[in-house]
Amino acid sequence: MTQDNYEPIKAQIIEMCRRLEKMGYFIGTWGNISVRVPKGFIVTPSRVPYDVIETDDFVVVSSEGKVIAGHRLPSSETEIHRAVLNKKNNLGAIIHSHSPYATAVSCLHRRIPPFVEDMAQIIGGQVDCTRYVPAGQHKKIADEVAQTIGEANAVLLANHGVLCGGRDLEEAFTASQILEKAALMMLAAGTLGPVISIPEEFVRSERDRFLHKYGTVRDAP
Ligand SMILES: [Zn+2]
Repeated sequence: MTQDNYEPIKAQIIEMCRRLEKMGYFIGTWGNISVRVPKGFIVTPSRVPYDVIETDDFVVVSSEGKVIAGHRLPSSETEIHRAVLNKKNNLGAIIHSHSPYATAVSCLHRRIPPFVEDMAQIIGGQVDCTRYVPAGQHKKIADEVAQTIGEANAVLLANHGVLCGGRDLEEAFTASQILEKAALMMLAAGTLGPVISIPEEFVRSERDRFLHKYGTVRDAP
């Protein structure tokens, strides 16, 4: 029995898992979430269906990878979450899903350039794709993901799925939706030709505007 002050965060994760399952981003327990906490991160457990999961089922893992609270096994993909949270200090929450369009692009081993403004704002740049790592090689895929993720808050996992992060869980959810939409648009536009990225300087300025200025200054007409 685990009692800690993370109950509200765990309840929020449960609600998010159910939302993602309804949206088709999670199928069964294929899909997992982590949220950074002072001692490490909370992660969804392995093989507990999201319609019956309770806050007591969650696991807390240290940044070194040690289970420090919880009686369940952490998600089999915990190493991926740990590798990304350790690499990218700006992220407070991660959603790893198998959302269909982003996964479709991952099967092409293609990157998704920042070709729409919301990608520049929330995701912060080009989303690269890892090399293929066979299922079950958790440490190897974690290393591959950590190596591949760059400035962007997202990465595609070849022939597998996608990982999106944000400063908090709601932002990771928004990033997941934006990337899924971008993947759909890229596949749709791809029937006519390759999508054209926003110039690098405007990707940076949009990201900066989103992080620091949104709602505080009047936009030029
Ligand atoms: Zn997965």
